[in-house]
Amino acid sequence: MVIRLAAPLSKDSIVDGEGLRTVLWTQGCLLKCPGCHNPHTHDPAGGTVVSVEAVKFELRQIRLQRGITFAGGEPFLQVAACAEIARFVKQRGWNVWCYTGFTHEQLSLNPAFAPLLEQVDVLIDGPFVLAQRDLTLRFRGSRNQRLLRLERGRILAVE
Ligand code: SF4
Repeated sequence: MVIRLAAPLSKDSIVDGEGLRTVLWTQGCLLKCPGCHNPHTHDPAGGTVVSVEAVKFELRQIRLQRGITFAGGEPFLQVAACAEIARFVKQRGWNVWCYTGFTHEQLSLNPAFAPLLEQVDVLIDGPFVLAQRDLTLRFRGSRNQRLLRLERGRILAVE
C-alpha cells in the first residue's frame, strides 16, 4: 500500500494537538478553501508517493511522542493508508488526531470513511472559513471548526 505525502513527517510538534506529536502531511484536497495555509497540498497528483511500510519504518525510529496528527491536504482522501498508519501507532500507545475539511456528520454518513474515523481520538472538522478566522482558537483556524473527542467514530465531547 502507498500514501501520497505533501512533506516529510514532522516530529516533536507542539502546535498540532496535545503533547509532543508527529505530523503526517497528506497530499491532495479538493476543497481549496480561500485562505488555506497549505495550498501546495491541494493537487491530488502532487507531493511524493511512498509506501506505508516506509512510513511505519520511519515512525518506529521516533520516540517520546504522545501521538500522530494527520493533516494536509485531506487525510480522508487516503482512508486505507491513513487507517493502516493509525492502527500501527495505536499499537505503540500513541493517540490519533486528524484534521479534515469534512464535517463529522459527512464522514459518519459514508461507510467508506469508517476505517480511519474509528481510529481517530480527536477530529478537528470542517473547512477553513476565512470570514470566521479566529487566531485565539486552540488547534483550529476558524470558528466553524470543532474539536471533537471521539470513541470508535462517535462524538464523546465537543470543544
Ligand atoms: S480542507 Fe484544509 S487543506 Fe483543504 S483547502 Fe481547506 S484548509 Fe486547506
